[in-house]
Amino acid sequence: MPASVAELGAEPVTHLVNTHWHFDHADGNEWLHSAGAKIIAQENTRKHLSEIQRVEDWDYNFLPLRSGGIPSEVFAGEHRLKLNGLSIGLKYYGPAHTDSDISATFTEANIVHVGDTYWNGIYPFIDYSTGGSIDGMIAASDANLAATTNDTIIIPGHGRPVSNKAELKEFRDMLVAIRENVAKLKKQGRSRDETVAAKPTAAFDAKWGQFVIDPGYVTRLVYEGV
Ligand SMILES: [Zn+2]
Repeated sequence: MPASVAELGAEPVTHLVNTHWHFDHADGNEWLHSAGAKIIAQENTRKHLSEIQRVEDWDYNFLPLRSGGIPSEVFAGEHRLKLNGLSIGLKYYGPAHTDSDISATFTEANIVHVGDTYWNGIYPFIDYSTGGSIDGMIAASDANLAATTNDTIIIPGHGRPVSNKAELKEFRDMLVAIRENVAKLKKQGRSRDETVAAKPTAAFDAKWGQFVIDPGYVTRLVYEGV
């Protein structure tokens, strides 16, 4: 058991929730399962982890996980858990960052983990190869805003690890503005490269463009979906 997990307490990890199928969120499945955890996910996560997955944008084929790493409990829309006397609600977004994204709401604590539907302070990746799209990302952001209050602690999939509704709103507004800019250029007949060259994200790059998904990359991802 890694030190970071051991620090949480001596009790065994009994449940593991996958917010979606991507390797940087599900690669711990096999060892946590071997340590006794039951793995819970949306049904598309199980499907993707059971088959070879090609992600075109990464030019990479992900191999299926061994059987111990495959979620054993899956659901389509919603799932509720009661653990240590506390309620945890899992909810499917519909297609967003992939077609397998769920949120995990810790009701009493007023904490929501929103997986990769939210990248705090950085441009997001969108996985079109498994059902993601810019419009799905915006719809998920709207759902996240509707499901939270100013007091809710919001945990993003990437970026600064603790966030809030005001920062989430800024992320959503950034996505909407870039979508509009890119759609306008595409409608004028500009190619993908011409659209990147026109810098439709310029107003946002200083704040959001400092990570793996740079301004050109996020422009290409949005272009694909408008
Ligand atoms: Zn992801």
